[in-house]
Amino acid sequence: MNGATTSGELRAHNRVRLLRAVHDCGATRTRSQLTRDLRLARGTASVLVAGLVEDALLHEEPAPEHGRGRPTLVPGPHPRGPLALAVDVREDAWELAACELGGRATVLAVRPHDGTPEDALGSLGEAIAAERERLGHRVIGAGVALAGPVRHGGLVDIAHLSWRSVDVPHLLGLAPPAAGAAGGGGPVVVGNDTAFAAVAEARRGRLRGVRMGLHLHVDFDLGGVLVVDGRPLGGASGTGAEFGHMPLTGGERTCMCGAIGCWGMDVGANALLRHVGLAAGGGRGREQAEHVLATSEEAVAANARALGRGIAALVNAHDPEAVTLSGHGVELYERAGDILMAACEPGLMAIRREHPPRIEGSALGWRGSLLGAMESVFDAFLTPEGLDRWRANHSDQARDTPDRRNVMNSTLPGESPP
Ligand SMILES: [Zn+2]
Repeated sequence: MNGATTSGELRAHNRVRLLRAVHDCGATRTRSQLTRDLRLARGTASVLVAGLVEDALLHEEPAPEHGRGRPTLVPGPHPRGPLALAVDVREDAWELAACELGGRATVLAVRPHDGTPEDALGSLGEAIAAERERLGHRVIGAGVALAGPVRHGGLVDIAHLSWRSVDVPHLLGLAPPAAGAAGGGGPVVVGNDTAFAAVAEARRGRLRGVRMGLHLHVDFDLGGVLVVDGRPLGGASGTGAEFGHMPLTGGERTCMCGAIGCWGMDVGANALLRHVGLAAGGGRGREQAEHVLATSEEAVAANARALGRGIAALVNAHDPEAVTLSGHGVELYERAGDILMAACEPGLMAIRREHPPRIEGSALGWRGSLLGAMESVFDAFLTPEGLDRWRANHSDQARDTPDRRNVMNSTLPGESPP
């Protein structure tokens, strides 16, 4: 049980449960469905919803279709409710979005950068500060996804870009507020793009309900992480599961990370570029790589084979129920799934071959890292303490939701087809 003993604690606990349920279902379930899901009395649910509406945390709309009787109401985000800022920093550009309770993301800005920490993070810090100013107390925090391992809450290494121990919060110029402090735009959570994509896949995608999953995110190179009971395994310092830097395919090329024969050398945009003799690295060449992906069967087949061989090794080691692929992995699987499977199967141990895990492309495409960054912010907010801070802050705010361009796919280059 939760340890809530007084009626006040129980109410605070149920407010969190109800908001969490609305968020996790994407604000699609009706009030009566949620009441049943959470085993609440109808009267209790009514009082809870009324209080959350009053606090600008929820807003109810009639369900699109309903039968006889009174219209069914669907609790969703309040038009002046909390917003999580979420950022996907790729090796060549970043995308900043505002996300409402329920997970709807509105892209606020997209900007290319030159691959240096100063250009990428300086411009991003300014953009986040400007949105915090514009949206005021509605901003409950920012989640930032980066294409490299993240240590100690904010030190990032991106081998391709020669980033070593880059202090992301410092370069963003957004010192996190003291613990428990009100205001200040909420906490800044810095995380690895693959781990965030895996969280999104577990909450809203094809790893939902999967106890042991493997998620692989393919951009310029490949990242992977194990997902156990919905959580990516982070390792002792938060940099675990660098599967892309394991010698799974027998290559001998030296990787920018310092190791030899890394799997990530053979899968992703850099591998596609190298396969056709184009310059690769430094986060450059996305358009050319997409052209290769669309036109060169040979390069696609080589990538798919390397992906399949590596998956087999990881399946032997970890016995996942499912393997999901995001980023370019979706298109690699669509274009050359048979080649991938043909390379995977012989690499499986006999006991694995009898019941191989399902392998599939992510339903979230390129949007996973951004959504996972959002989840990190709502995870910190959807607590009794987070809601108390909101109540203390929200009374004087009256800012509207940013223009609703309802963007379901990433608007960065590499957009997956709708
Ligand atoms: Zn490496």
